[in-house]
Amino acid sequence: MSNGVQRYPSLLKPYDFGFLTLRNRMVMGAMHTRLETMDRAQERLTEFYRIRARGEAGLILTGGFAPNTEGLMESDAPLLDVNTDLTVHRAITEAVHTEGGHIALQILHAGRYAKHAQCVGPTEIRAPINSFVPRALTTEEIWSTIQDIAQTAVIAQHAGYDGVEIMGSEGYLLNEFTSARINTREDEFGGSFEARIKLSIETVKAVRALTGDRFLIIFRISAIDLIEGGMTGPETAEFARQLQAAGVHLLNTGIGWHEAPIPTIASSVPRAAWRFAIEHIKHAVSIPVIASNRINTPEMGEQLLAEGAADFVSMARPFLADPDFARKTREGRADQINTCIGCNQACLDRIFTERVASCMVNPRAGREIEFMSAPAASQKRIAVVGGGPAGIAFAIESAQRGHSITLFEASASLGGQLNLARVVPGKSEFNELLRYFHVRLFELGIRVELNHRVHASELQSTGFDEVIIATGVSARMPEIPGMDHPKAVSYIDVLTGRVQIGAHVAIIGAGGIGFDVAEFLLGDPQDALEPASFLSTWGVDPTLSSAGGLRAIPGPARQPKRQITMLQRKTGKPGSTLGKSTGWILKANMRRAGVKMLTGATYEKIDDQGLHCAIQGIPQLLEVDHVVICAGQESQRALADALAALGMASHVIGGAHLATELDAVRAIDQATRLALTI
Ligand code: NAP
Ligand code: SF4
Repeated sequence: MSNGVQRYPSLLKPYDFGFLTLRNRMVMGAMHTRLETMDRAQERLTEFYRIRARGEAGLILTGGFAPNTEGLMESDAPLLDVNTDLTVHRAITEAVHTEGGHIALQILHAGRYAKHAQCVGPTEIRAPINSFVPRALTTEEIWSTIQDIAQTAVIAQHAGYDGVEIMGSEGYLLNEFTSARINTREDEFGGSFEARIKLSIETVKAVRALTGDRFLIIFRISAIDLIEGGMTGPETAEFARQLQAAGVHLLNTGIGWHEAPIPTIASSVPRAAWRFAIEHIKHAVSIPVIASNRINTPEMGEQLLAEGAADFVSMARPFLADPDFARKTREGRADQINTCIGCNQACLDRIFTERVASCMVNPRAGREIEFMSAPAASQKRIAVVGGGPAGIAFAIESAQRGHSITLFEASASLGGQLNLARVVPGKSEFNELLRYFHVRLFELGIRVELNHRVHASELQSTGFDEVIIATGVSARMPEIPGMDHPKAVSYIDVLTGRVQIGAHVAIIGAGGIGFDVAEFLLGDPQDALEPASFLSTWGVDPTLSSAGGLRAIPGPARQPKRQITMLQRKTGKPGSTLGKSTGWILKANMRRAGVKMLTGATYEKIDDQGLHCAIQGIPQLLEVDHVVICAGQESQRALADALAALGMASHVIGGAHLATELDAVRAIDQATRLALTI
């Protein structure tokens, strides 16, 4: 028995459906990646799924495929109907099966979330997150949609998939029908609870009738809607029972409609925060149930299964971050898992801004065919200067290819800007990335020289074959009179705890770091990532007795530790550059804590009285104890210039290369790609 099986017996136990045995309980959840829109799409998709099957995912769920054009998420989203060429599907299913895995295709009808003019819904009620107004389906059209979904399931079966997942959560079409507020129809698909769930029940029956008893039917049920007029807990339980009776083999759980103003998967959501809603489904049925949302470690997965909260765990982003998650778990190497830190920066934020998904901590995700790594032709001695994400990522990739690496870091610890991010409330998952980096550096025997500020002359005399400059950034300190006053401090002073900050604070700069500093200074009670406090802060009813699982937010919502004013020179909305999937959470936190936002600012001076400025031309004095400067960064590339003066070449990466929009995604990607070329 491997170490992994002893430590994670529930997670590694096979599951026998009678006609199909899954090798473990780890499900790679469905993800919209947009890979199908890239060049060499077939190769990319096949490789994407192949390596995750090789990494021993128990069951893979594909991204969603629409059953008809009305159900497309956007006009170029994937569709599976009778006209679809199945070549790519057959390549994917064959690749997964060759690796001993199983794969089911997700069928997703976007309903009124579809971002095109043909979008349809139960009624003409527009979704608050979509500008398109849906057309209400006729009764006949609903029956034909059911047939379309069943037909897509049959085609999936022909293409070699082991089953389908019918998307019934997150506020898409089937879920929309279940809501009494959205579904005000008066035909057989609206009105009573039985009528509102009829679309889902009839869909399952139709799929089962056409695909038979040996084809896995998964239904993703909304375990908690988190919207007004959503289902109550007793309704959800009854719905789950009826889905089982209709022929579902496995129930996956979804949390919250996309329009719900409550975070469900960001890193500020405590791990397994939604356990209560998942357990509720589990207790209602005798078929197996999959837990999802904010489960990113084998420990958390094992705990949920061992304690009977679910039978499987779904991890979508964690399989982007590490395709070998399941294999490493089985081999007892969980400390080597590249953990998903819930940042959303390279996955969801890209999807929400019409780009192709990847992963911050694993730039290979979705780009597998671009990162074919081979041992280096000849071993080189390489100096990497700077132990932030760019330097470490380069060192790891390069050492893997056989080079001998020395990593120099001027400070006493590795991590660079990650050390600032990880102390911000809701960002403690960054610790996992640091853990992963440390484990890999140690395993690969990379020589790390801490407290060593390396100079050009030293690099010249030591005779390295290549020098990588990853010296990062310094905080930009704008030329405001009084910047040398003790009240003026940089965000680095604050986040490293070098300066004790007073009760009244002005923050110059309302970008990502400005918001992070504000969160830090507010002393968010969510810091402890304690589920009960999270649920109460966001008005979630863990008893599930109310519609949608909502309850009133207790007021006053937040007792801020400090009075904070944020300023920016632009007149636009503060926070406009924040990540699409997380920015609204930060802005909501600021609103609750009474943080004042001032735009159109000009800064006159900082003195004993505080910050003298003008807002939209009107002079103001902010009587604050400290003025925290969060005005962006500048590249630190003096070492590269000094080397060039000595006639030595170097490669400059990360923030040292480009400080604009200081970006760990870009830094890690650039470092990894460079390492493959040397
Ligand atoms: P940033 O987003 O570029 O924001 C810099 C802020 O400083 C802006 O509000 C800018 O507003 C102001 N500023 C710039 N130059 C100034 C000057 N000379 N004098 C006074 N104010 C000045 O930079 P950041 O906040 O350091 O964040 C860096 C990057 O980190 C972001 O782009 C983002 O990618 C990432 N990040 C994101 C998040 C998140 O999404 N939650 C969190 C942390 C970091 P005005 O020019 O209008 O004054
Ligand atoms: Fe996870 Fe961030 Fe990677 Fe997305 S980008 S998979 S949230 S680590």
